[in-house]
Amino acid sequence: MKVERKKLSLLQQTYLPQIAAGMITTLGNTLPRERVTSQYPEAPTPIPPGYRGVPALVRDETGRIKCVACQLCEFVCPPEAIKIVAAEFPGSNVEKYPARFDLNMLRCIYCGMCEEACPEEAIFLSDVATFVVGSRDEAVLPKEKLLELGGVRPMPIRKWASK
Ligand code: SF4
Ligand code: SF4
Repeated sequence: MKVERKKLSLLQQTYLPQIAAGMITTLGNTLPRERVTSQYPEAPTPIPPGYRGVPALVRDETGRIKCVACQLCEFVCPPEAIKIVAAEFPGSNVEKYPARFDLNMLRCIYCGMCEEACPEEAIFLSDVATFVVGSRDEAVLPKEKLLELGGVRPMPIRKWASK
């Protein structure tokens, strides 16, 4: 398909209207007006509802980890950030639990697919927006750290995940 180029008028060919429009925008931004400066990190930036932060695992009311190691999240995770080692839950009618649940935050793209796929509502993207580590190894969050994140943060269950 051939797209015809729009013919420019003589004035447009001088680029003066475009330059004038740019100058007006620049001038508008240099005039005194109310500025909003974020004082982060001293004053935390408000996190909007539905923010997708660091994934976290949650426990149920009895303190048991909700994850049943079905490995659906591991399967759907696009960058393969999740690694699960399943084990049998001794003396319980729950078949499996994750003996290991590692989440590589260097790979995670905060897409939320794990949360969407989880049949147990065991993993959620928390509102933790800052994530700082000292080494690549520290960026791989173990189950205990993920549970800590899930345990101390309110996990709003999204409408599409609460069915
Ligand atoms: S948010 Fe996306 S990339 Fe991160 S662990 Fe979940 S599925 Fe994987
Ligand atoms: S977090 Fe959910 S989807 Fe992932 S293994 Fe556990 S139960 Fe399955």
